Amino acid sequence: MISLADPILGEEEKQALYAVIDSNWLTMGERVAEFERAFAVLHNAESAVAVNSCTAGLHLCLAAFGLGSGDEVLVPSLTFVATVNAIMYTGAKPVFVDIKDNDLPHISIEDAEAKCTPRTKAAIVMHYGGYLVDLAAWRSFADDHRLILIEDAAHAPGTADVGRWGDAAAFSFFSNKNMTTAEGGMVLARDETVLKRIRSLRAHGMTTDTLNRHRGHAHTYDVIDLGFNYRLDELRAAIGLVQLTHLQRWNSLRRMLTAYYRACLSEELSDIGIPFDQDHPTAAHLMPVVLPKGIDRSRVMEQLRGLGIQTSIHYPPVHQFSYYRRRFPNTVLSRTDEFSAREITLPLHPMLTKDQIQFVSKSLRKTLSK
Ligand SMILES: *Cc1c(COP(=O)(O)O)cnc(C)c1O
Repeated sequence: MISLADPILGEEEKQALYAVIDSNWLTMGERVAEFERAFAVLHNAESAVAVNSCTAGLHLCLAAFGLGSGDEVLVPSLTFVATVNAIMYTGAKPVFVDIKDNDLPHISIEDAEAKCTPRTKAAIVMHYGGYLVDLAAWRSFADDHRLILIEDAAHAPGTADVGRWGDAAAFSFFSNKNMTTAEGGMVLARDETVLKRIRSLRAHGMTTDTLNRHRGHAHTYDVIDLGFNYRLDELRAAIGLVQLTHLQRWNSLRRMLTAYYRACLSEELSDIGIPFDQDHPTAAHLMPVVLPKGIDRSRVMEQLRGLGIQTSIHYPPVHQFSYYRRRFPNTVLSRTDEFSAREITLPLHPMLTKDQIQFVSKSLRKTLSK
């Protein structure tokens, strides 16, 4: 089976886990702090806050800016449901924004502009497939409308510029992402006081942590905010520290394999769409293609599976899920629906071979010509 996305794990991760067990300290401690420093350095940031998921990270970003009931947040529907759930947790209202088009399936700035109201307080952009949204354009849009700009950077760790234009950015280390800690995430913020608030909210708004008290640096603590338990642990941080050392190389491999896919696909199949330009800045998290109109996508995916090729859909639009239809009926996003109905995601991970990419391209042609 050629799988969609495979984590790369080995001896180094095992040794790192043994070392944590030997240290007898499992909860958030020195390795988490080291992981935060290393992640910040890689992204040219002062510091970072590790959390137990990107979903938690997004929630903290919104909470740190005080978003809540009565506020509106612009958000794409073409994303993983977590992006929108994070808004719901705060009591704010998600306002679904359409994508630009099939070639650039990012949240559309024109549609966002049209959906701004006096209650709009923030916008969340998502770097679909690792392809960065136009961050300079979004920064000036946010400044013009006095909005907080949050980046859902789940697909884009390790890319230049990510997390530097948004007021805050959240990353994911879930198992199928560009690097993993099994479950986990990281947050960057432009303003140090915001990041400090996020750090505090991660652990119940407490003024000292368990490690400090264990070491006798403090005996008690105050609670200064209504926070959460979104801590990362030492085991996950230890894996993350190893994975982080490979991230840039893995991202380069992903980009190289994407270029190879583009060459094979345009040779084999002139009638399918490949979103984004060849040289669009990207962490190459996904390999999305848009099937020709009128093709039975389920049949294509089924036949590819029969040939040993796993595919997926990114994404079923959030506004079409039962819960969101109930909450926000009458949401119309025709370009999102169109893209989402015709998209399939082909296998892409650093261990994929060029032979496998040729096989996937040829198999896709075969299933389409049937
Ligand atoms: C994976 C993902 C998330 C959620 O990440 P978790 O770490 O699993 O919480 C959020 N947004 C997008 C776009 C994702 O792909």
